[in-house]
Amino acid sequence: MKKLITANEMKTILAKQGPSGVPADAQLTPIARDLLKDAQRKGGTAIKGGASAKASEPVVPDYEYKWTPGSDPQSPADLQAFYHSKEITTLRERMADIGQRIWNKDYVDGNGGNLTIRVGDNLVLCTPTLISKGFMSAEDMCMVDMNGTQLAGTRKRTSEVMTHIGIMKRQPKAKACCHAHPPHATAFAVASVVPPTCMIPEAEVFLGQIGMAPYQTPGSPENADTVGEIGVNHQSVLMENHGVITWGKDIEDAYWKMENTDAYCKTVWIASQLKGGQLKTISGPQAKELIGIRKALGMDDYRENWKECELCDNSDFRPGVICGVPPVAAANGEQPEYDDSAEALVQQITNEVMKAF
Ligand SMILES: [Zn+2]
Repeated sequence: MKKLITANEMKTILAKQGPSGVPADAQLTPIARDLLKDAQRKGGTAIKGGASAKASEPVVPDYEYKWTPGSDPQSPADLQAFYHSKEITTLRERMADIGQRIWNKDYVDGNGGNLTIRVGDNLVLCTPTLISKGFMSAEDMCMVDMNGTQLAGTRKRTSEVMTHIGIMKRQPKAKACCHAHPPHATAFAVASVVPPTCMIPEAEVFLGQIGMAPYQTPGSPENADTVGEIGVNHQSVLMENHGVITWGKDIEDAYWKMENTDAYCKTVWIASQLKGGQLKTISGPQAKELIGIRKALGMDDYRENWKECELCDNSDFRPGVICGVPPVAAANGEQPEYDDSAEALVQQITNEVMKAF
């Protein structure tokens, strides 16, 4: 059996022996393969973090797929050749890899979730329908045009690809999307609670403000339009009563946003159980500074011209109050607000106690 070399093992081999130390018939994980390619391109042996790494230019792997505009393959034969090309096969392997990660993290169950990578003006790779994301291979992936028409791949494409394309059509920087149902973030989507801002600096920089899209049937054109509009300004969108979709410059980046979103929602949820839900936020000027860092890292933020006092306005986020919505008020469709009946009861008891003295 061929030896499978992981990214960490590759780093060690490259640091000690250079690219020539990798057995010719070894099987490589997608990230290990990228590390090897980088080392071969640089012609050196130094990999950051390696045991005997020489001082050299730090390696920052670039996973973004860049095509030449106007160069999409057109004929059925050219489309097949493109789908089976080395570059596209690497991306399909990477999708299978990310599928395993979202499944291992419990972000999807059953056949839930889907992934896409834009690979042309009018070409998108996507995961197939009715498959566990934890058990996909590169051969399972489909290729569609921007209308969702399947062009390559033997399995049927996911119906939710249209939601991803809804974002890609409106936001050219969205080169890949990740959709999943991670429990903490999906809980916010089911409760229709927009996660507050200004709680954790890394979330402000790498995630930006999380958006909320009103419920539409998954896979419908209406959902593609609704989520597509919200996705222009938000790299992470909660879809009411459904789940989360994130986008990035490549599939790894889109996946990171998914991790960031669920971890953020989990932390905010736990924190909201403490101190009566009174959460501490950073200040407006501090938030402004973080948005500046986000921009410097190449990520837009539609809030960059907002006033500082608006950046950390979480007045709609009242976790303790939301938990206390009287069932009758909720059934009548009233907005969550302070529980008047409880307040009146407290007042009545206070009055009785005061009278006793
Ligand atoms: Zn879904």
